[in-house]
Amino acid sequence: MRQAPEGNIFGRILSGELPSWEVYSDDQTYAFLDIFPQNPGHTLVIPRSYAENILESSEAELAACLATVRRLMPAITEAVGAKGVTVLTNTGIAAGQTVPYLHFHIIPRSTSDSISIYNPGEQLPDEEGRRIQGAIRNSLK
Ligand code: 5GP
Repeated sequence: MRQAPEGNIFGRILSGELPSWEVYSDDQTYAFLDIFPQNPGHTLVIPRSYAENILESSEAELAACLATVRRLMPAITEAVGAKGVTVLTNTGIAAGQTVPYLHFHIIPRSTSDSISIYNPGEQLPDEEGRRIQGAIRNSLK
């Protein structure tokens, strides 16, 4: 089990050094309420084994996190009376990651909330689509 770097805020929560509103815990994951919720019930799921982000976590650890996300979604939805849920993880400062410890946000949604997480852009032109598709397929080789 990898330990978080000293002082890491979610590492301190996991060790019990800092308090949190725990909603679920098992041998691989820990889930607690976000202290600045976007909506009531906004929950964070983290692996017990430290990874800074999704790329540093093993497939098994990720699977455990997603299993916890999957398990909590209906429970949270029912508890707060949400109509939908947004699940996301930010990777890197440019993406808005503020805590360097892998975490999945579970954000209960309503049709009337004003959360703007994703706005579609312009329709993808054919030529650009082919170019980027090719570049990504090439990177996968
Ligand atoms: P990020 O911006 O890295 O994707 O999300 C970090 C999240 O952690 C934010 O939604 C923020 O409100 C939450 N957060 C930051 N510090 C604490 C804390 O000390 N306790 C809890 N429960 N949540 C925190």
